Amino acid sequence: MEYSIATLGSHSALQILKGAKDEGFRTIAICKSDHAFVYRHFGVADEIIEIQSYSEFPTLEDALLKRNAILIPHASLIAYVDLKAIEGMKVPYYGNRKILFWESDRERQRIWLEKAGLNLPKVFNDPSEIDRPAIVKFPGAKGGQGYFLVKSEREFRRKIGKIKEYVIQEYIVGIPVYIHYFYSVIRNELELMGFDRRYESNVDGIGRIPPNLQRDLKVTYTIVGNFPLMLRESLLPEVFKMGESVIKASKEICSPGIYGPFCLETVVTPDLKFYVFEISARIVAGTNVFMETSPYALIKHGKPMSTGRRIALEIREAIEQDRLKEILG
Ligand code: ATP
Repeated sequence: MEYSIATLGSHSALQILKGAKDEGFRTIAICKSDHAFVYRHFGVADEIIEIQSYSEFPTLEDALLKRNAILIPHASLIAYVDLKAIEGMKVPYYGNRKILFWESDRERQRIWLEKAGLNLPKVFNDPSEIDRPAIVKFPGAKGGQGYFLVKSEREFRRKIGKIKEYVIQEYIVGIPVYIHYFYSVIRNELELMGFDRRYESNVDGIGRIPPNLQRDLKVTYTIVGNFPLMLRESLLPEVFKMGESVIKASKEICSPGIYGPFCLETVVTPDLKFYVFEISARIVAGTNVFMETSPYALIKHGKPMSTGRRIALEIREAIEQDRLKEILG
């Protein structure tokens, strides 16, 4: 029986499903009923399975197995559906499920990224160590809600109030660059899919108002959209080097390691150093700016290639070479 590509109707589903169709797969969108019209409108899904709430998702196990579906994860699937339920589902899943353990915790991410030898913002273990601008982060803060910046221990003590759980990280002044990678197990090669920057509310709006009005505002980083970005070409060697190191380290901590799409979230300083403040171990929504292709992927493949399509191409080649087991986690 032919395979189908299935994903949850949110995040990067349009890209994933369009890419799967371009590679000749049958496609399935699993949607909340009030979102289904979008996927119908764009015609990217051969079948739409409607659910009333995300908690219903695990009940689709038999339906998906019957359709010989391969599930493509994205951040919304991970955020909205219970992780244990996803882990327990027998539906084939593209990617290494075990990576989630390393990605979901800031401390473990740090161990992984340090092992890869990347430049990370310094962490201040005690507020008395704050000797430069720092960002104070909280666990599970969606869109950086409540994060604040401080310059000194005194300012920290004044702003922290009664909160007990936090991380104080050096604030890197530079520009954010999100790097989209794809590591192909089948071709044994790391590919660069593109770069984006984020458009975040309200932080990206604050520069539009005068300083006297800025002063008392609470900064948030709620993601609203993304912009495409081309990087100085002389930075590409470093970009590839960082991606390779992350893959190598992931093989040591969590065999067979990370594969498929992933993203390093970085800030680049004026001396052209990349500081990595987070890793996403699957397709990021920033790749949507290249729903058809990025210039890099176009040169590499000689035809338009989105990250969504790249996933489908990998699956197709795995099927053709009878190596599907190697890429399903
Ligand atoms: P996500 O949804 O990606 O998990 P989050 O809510 O955990 O996001 P972060 O991505 O950690 O938040 O950070 C929010 C914003 O703060 C980002 O726009 C990022 O550019 C900025 N930021 C985070 N850490 C630093 C840092 N150390 N130096 C400079 N900017 C930072």
